Formats: sequence, structure tokens, C-alpha cells
Amino acid sequence: MKTHVKALVVGGGAVGTGIAYHLAKYGWKDVMLLERDELTSGSTWHAAGLLPLFNMGYATTHLHDYSVEFYKSLEAETGLNAGFSVVGNLRMAQTKERMDEYMLYGSTAETLGIEYQKLTPNQIKERWPLIRTDDLAGAIYHPTDGYINPADVTMAMAKGARQMGVSIERKWQVDGYQWNGDEWKVTCTKMIEKGGNLIPSDEQIIITAEHVVTATGNHAQRTAKLLGIKIPAIRRCRGARPRHSARAWRGYQAHPRGTYEVNLPRARDSHPPPSLGRWSPDAPEIHRPLPSRGRRVGGGASRHGSQGAAAAVAAQ
Ligand SMILES: Cc1cc2nc3c(=O)[nH]c(=O)nc-3n(C[C@H](O)[C@H](O)[C@H](O)COP(=O)(O)OP(=O)(O)OC[C@H]3O[C@@H](n4cnc5c(N)ncnc54)[C@H](O)[C@@H]3O)c2cc1C
Repeated sequence: MKTHVKALVVGGGAVGTGIAYHLAKYGWKDVMLLERDELTSGSTWHAAGLLPLFNMGYATTHLHDYSVEFYKSLEAETGLNAGFSVVGNLRMAQTKERMDEYMLYGSTAETLGIEYQKLTPNQIKERWPLIRTDDLAGAIYHPTDGYINPADVTMAMAKGARQMGVSIERKWQVDGYQWNGDEWKVTCTKMIEKGGNLIPSDEQIIITAEHVVTATGNHAQRTAKLLGIKIPAIRRCRGARPRHSARAWRGYQAHPRGTYEVNLPRARDSHPPPSLGRWSPDAPEIHRPLPSRGRRVGGGASRHGSQGAAAAVAAQ
């Protein structure tokens, strides 16, 4: 096993494997990926594999757009079929306000040249005859959306990465990072199975790396702690939600980490009710999109919030 590499990627989920693959693809010769368990054993294993192209963020939309094209070429390159199906995504709205939100998605898509259609209830029915449309205000339809098997696409990327010289080592957990001014000294512990559990052994090695990329998914908080950083795994927005408005949403888009104007909640808008929560004074003032009240059909069903998504090249 190598102990000196140019780039060390930590985490063998869709994101880490995608990063290792792409570093090799772009010419980095000396790349290693470490996974504490098995490839895809993290949240990648649980994902539905939907590729929601409806995004509010330009960077995420670019990533998804790139991923859809990339997945088409991966089978030819690796011989592994990752179950990629382009079936379109029909996202329905029951209120005019929800349709307004979809139009914001539409404007992002338009800017990036991603095809979408705005559908009336009658047009929805033409596309999906089994549906009841009496309570629908309309829909947004994305013909190039689809789904893929997340574990299979990760394995395909791993195979592609290995073909390009990336070494992938499983059952090695990273337990410490030290920067000496020139390179990283990364402490790694061999993991072993005992009584059905994965536990650290006494065997440890130090890997020296010029660059370290952590892609540890749900373990990100632990990783951050090892690096002396405090990051929330989930953005906090306790208590009552702000009233949904396109203006507040645009404010959030422009300054996701800043403060911006929201209409403070009235009792009837609270979710959860005030009795169950309140604004947390130490939490950043953020606006979270409302849970979707729209019904969805089709292979791809986009969602609010960041899903990490078709994480071909996304970094944590
Ligand atoms: C139920 C469910 C449904 C979902 N559906 C969708 C969907 O339809 N579409 C979509 O785009 N996204 C979906 N997601 C989200 C998606 O699964 C994640 O965004 C994505 O899998 C994250 O990949 P990752 O590589 O960052 O994390 P993970 O897959 O969690 O990979 C992290 C890896 O790092 C390893 N690791 C952690 N710490 C260490 C360490 N110290 N040393 C070595 N290795 C370490 C872990 O063992 C793990 O294998 C869904 C998620 C869930 C839970």
C-alpha cells in the first residue's frame, strides 16, 4: 500500500469516488482513495438515484447537467451498466405560489440552456392520463431528467478510476490530519470485522499527501472535528418557518449565509407550531424551502434542499 501520494480522497461514496475518478481523468497520476468500510456503504447505498435537474443554484445545475452527460459515457468506458434511464421529471404544483417557485427553477434552467416546459393541468393529463388534476395549478416538466442506480454508478466510477491508475483501499479509516506546512500527514487505522461489527484494529499507518479531499458524507462532522472545524451536518432552522415568498427566496439565493428579509411567522403559518419550537437565537437566520405539496410522478422527482445529488464531481 502506498504511503505517499499526490492526492488522498477520503470516503468511497458517490462523491469521493467521483472526485478520485475525475482527478485521474484530468491527469493526476498519483491518487489514492481510502474507505473505512466498503465502497457505497454510506448514504450512497440508500439513495433513490433521482437526478433532479431542477435547481435553484447555478453550480448545482451545472453539476447535474454534466453528470447526465457523463453517465451516458461511463458504460462505454467501463463496461458497467449503472441503470441510467432518462424518463423525464414531472413536478406538479397545487398552488399558484408553488408554480411561481417553479418559474424560478425555470429561469435557472433557461440561463444554463436546460430544457423545461411549463404545463397546464390539461397538458399534465395528456402526459400522464391516470392522474387527477382537479386540485393542480400546473407543473414543470423536465424531459432530460432521469434516474440511475447510485451504488452501480459508484462502482462504475471506481472501475474507471482504477483503470486510470487510482488506488482504492477499503477498510482503512482516517483518524487524524496533520499539516506540516508542505503536506498532510494522515493517520489511518485498519478496520476489522468482529462479531458482525466494524471496529478499529491496532494497525495504523501514516500516509503523506500533497492534497487531501474529504468526502465522508454523514461522517462529515467527525471529519471536520479532526480538522478543528465545526460544521453543522444539517442547517438549523428550528421553530416557526418564515412565510414563503419569492422575494425571501431570492434573498436567500443571493446570500445563503447572510440574513435577509423574511416575513415573521404568524401562528397559523408556524411549522412546527410555536409550542414545539422557536427561532434559535444562535442559529443563522435562514429560509428553508417549504416541504413540497406537489405530487410527483415519473422516474425523476426533484426535491428541495441539497441532496448531494448526482454527485459525479461535487466536493463536500
Ligand atoms: C434515503 C435517501 C434517499 C436519497 N435519494 C437521493 C436521490 O434520489 N437523488 C440524489 O441525488 N441524492 C439522494 N440522496 C442523497 C445521496 O445519497 C447523498 O447525497 C450521496 O450519497 C452522498 O454521497 P457521499 O459520497 O458524500 O457520502 P456517502 O455515500 O455517505 O459516502 C461517505 C463514505 O465515507 C466513508 N467514511 C466516512 N468517514 C471516513 C473516514 N474517517 N475514513 C474513511 N472513510 C470514511 C463512509 O464509510 C462512506 O462510505 C438520498 C439519501 C438518502 C439517505
